[in-house]
Amino acid sequence: TYDYIVVGAGTAGNVIANRLSANGNYEVLVLEAGVSDDGVLAAHAPFLGPSLTPGTPYDWNYTVAAQAGLDGRSFPYPRGKLLGGCSSVNYMVHQFGSSEDYDKLAKDTGDSSWSWKNIRQYIFKHERIVAPADGHNTVGQYTPANHGTTGTLPVSLPGNSQGIDARVIATTKEQAAEFPFNQDMGGGDVLGVGWVQNSIGNGERSSSSTTYLAEALKRPNVDLLLNAQVTKLVQTGTTFLPPFGPSVPAFRSLQFSKGPGAPVTTVMARKEIILSAGSINTPQILLLSGIGPKADLQALGIKTIIDNPSVGRNLSDHVLLPNIYNVKSGESLDNLLRDPALIGPAIDQWNTTRTGVLANGVTNNLGFLRLPSNATIFKTQKDPATGPKASHWELLALNFWINPGVPQPPAGDFVTFISALISPTSRGFVKLASADPFKAPIIDPNMVTTEFDKFALREAVRATKRFAAGSAWKDYITSPWGGLSATSDADIDAYVRGQSTTVFHPIGTSSMTAKGAKYGVVDPDLKVKGTDGLRIVDASILPTIPNAHTQGPTYLIAEKAAAAILNC
Ligand code: FAD
Repeated sequence: TYDYIVVGAGTAGNVIANRLSANGNYEVLVLEAGVSDDGVLAAHAPFLGPSLTPGTPYDWNYTVAAQAGLDGRSFPYPRGKLLGGCSSVNYMVHQFGSSEDYDKLAKDTGDSSWSWKNIRQYIFKHERIVAPADGHNTVGQYTPANHGTTGTLPVSLPGNSQGIDARVIATTKEQAAEFPFNQDMGGGDVLGVGWVQNSIGNGERSSSSTTYLAEALKRPNVDLLLNAQVTKLVQTGTTFLPPFGPSVPAFRSLQFSKGPGAPVTTVMARKEIILSAGSINTPQILLLSGIGPKADLQALGIKTIIDNPSVGRNLSDHVLLPNIYNVKSGESLDNLLRDPALIGPAIDQWNTTRTGVLANGVTNNLGFLRLPSNATIFKTQKDPATGPKASHWELLALNFWINPGVPQPPAGDFVTFISALISPTSRGFVKLASADPFKAPIIDPNMVTTEFDKFALREAVRATKRFAAGSAWKDYITSPWGGLSATSDADIDAYVRGQSTTVFHPIGTSSMTAKGAKYGVVDPDLKVKGTDGLRIVDASILPTIPNAHTQGPTYLIAEKAAAAILNC
């Protein structure tokens, strides 16, 4: 028996394990289905990170259902299955979103503690801005006042030039009306294009494992089990909630096992179980435990304990559309990616000095942008952005070929401008395919099925082409690759359907709603509605996807939740 059991040593789970164990008063057990990240080079050398997914032992290796909005294609849906979870395999872009994301969250949940004004304190607890790997002068590339300097997770600006950085920044000056320079997106104002901040310190990936968990494991009151997959929560009784009830089922026990047919262990929590298994596995565990839509559970022979139709629904994700151009030979990173003779010396350099191309993330510049306010779509559709200063799409510049699912061509140099849909209105779901906990659930992000999503991506393609037409690219870009030369609505739509995949940011499957709301999975204190002893702390609780890559918001959720649990 432990005081707290944390399910999943991922991004959020390790924050919880660290903060709850810090005062020494509580015994904490952390259960992780995956393996250790120790000695896994690609989990530590930043630029190698993308090689960890898909199709490796460090990935859950999920695949999405055929996407009706994307020509019926299905594609991998990576999720980290190792210490650190997705924070050990992600692309390390580190940001928090628009202030309007949090203010909307506060308004929608009726709980002002989710407002930007309040949540911002956790940035300073979480983050420690450090010098970039190449030690360059970062004045004018970020705003120090927006960032923590003493927090747990080292974060830095790019540590190696991508070659195209100056072209991106020049374009923000030349086309300032459409692509204004934003010195720092970390202060709640996301609009504009500027320098990325990465979860990298001293040229190494900062994951929740190398930071929060490593610190926690030095304490005698934290136990960690690897290869321990939680298969089911177990009801331990009913609790009469003061002052007037009701009586609700308590879940202070769970079962875990190493795999199909392996022995099952049952463990108890004196205080709480905290589910931090992520946007796919958290709803899977709830459903396996009889918390979910009754009809779905009945169909699989699972006894319903709480009939909650919202579990696993409201899945939302950013859509990734790679727009690729052929460029002048020799200046991109493509040869490095395809030539083992080049990657070897880069690995040696990283091993000895933690510098060079491997010390860096995948992009140095990105930005968040809006559709024009007079866009025709707004005549018929409400603006889905979280506020007037929030974005509809994101632009990322990468000096190499990136096109998930389509292998890098054997020759050629490329630049990829990703346009990502940031305010999607399509919603999907996670459902059980089977009552077997070791079978993958059905994951349907249902991408690009609404008029707004189609419109926004179409206009994002057009805007990206205007960006690439800037004079800074004239001596570099030679021609568009593939269907990017499309100009009509119909042709661009076909290009979008054929190219789009995921930015790997699923949220919403255990959505937080106001206390007493008729839908939703957790209350604003992140306790599972209609239960006792059970909380969810991970990206799945976000009802609306933020204007950010989702690790930063996930860290803030976890810091806030840990503070709330300790104050209980
Ligand atoms: P996770 O970090 O996934 O943690 C869940 C943990 O629970 C995992 O360790 C998992 O193995 C474990 N687990 C699951 N089921 C069980 C079970 N039944 N029993 C025990 N343990 C279990 N975000 C950014 O901000 N920037 C980026 O550049 C970026 N790039 C990305 C690239 C990729 C390839 C991926 C996959 C994600 C990326 N993201 C990025 C998204 C971001 O990393 C995630 O949104 C965030 O880390 C999710 O955190 P989490 O705590 O919700 O889940």
